[in-house]
Amino acid sequence: MHMDSFDKLYMDQLKDAYSAEKQLTKALPKMVKSATSPELRTALEEHLAVTRRQVERLEGIFQDMGKPASGKTCKGMAGIIEEGQEILHEDGDPEVIDAAIIAAAQRVEHYEIAAYGTLRAFAETKGDTKAARILEEILNEEKEADERLTRIAESSVNVDARDVDEDEWDEDVESKGEGQGRVQPGRGISAGDTGRRDKADGPWT
Ligand code: FE
Ligand code: ZN
Ligand code: FE
Repeated sequence: MHMDSFDKLYMDQLKDAYSAEKQLTKALPKMVKSATSPELRTALEEHLAVTRRQVERLEGIFQDMGKPASGKTCKGMAGIIEEGQEILHEDGDPEVIDAAIIAAAQRVEHYEIAAYGTLRAFAETKGDTKAARILEEILNEEKEADERLTRIAESSVNVDARDVDEDEWDEDVESKGEGQGRVQPGRGISAGDTGRRDKADGPWT
């Protein structure tokens, strides 16, 4: 597109945000499926509901302007989602996967916070106070989601993920000890296998 007018730039940025939210409504259910921590699952599920309402409110802004909402793919969001999914294509420990999901989800939220900060400022500059108010509402929802993820990470998920390493160390010590925890032939325990993999629901895709 020709970046020769502020209106076109605003519309381009709005479409980018709309595409980002639509992609997220598809990615979040997969993140919920892969998550184990009940607080994390609830936070992701609730943000999915919030995200669906954001899509509707963005559609309202396009409608007010008499413009189509579609026509652009946000490559930034596609990349963030793809990178987040990469981690889950391999078997892992549920606690560590939870920490990885939060790492990916917070990248998503920060990307959105940047987008809506700009969009709200653009709408204000244009004098579209109605759109500016909606965009600020959405901006605040993204900030809340980010802060909630930080709280979950710091209060439980990161600690649980760290303790997986300590459990493994204990198991290593036990299996090397005299007559203790001997591995039965043909039932080898490999490093990284804590036997809790069953809780994970596999990769996002
Ligand atoms: Fe959003
Ligand atoms: Zn984008
Ligand atoms: Fe969000």
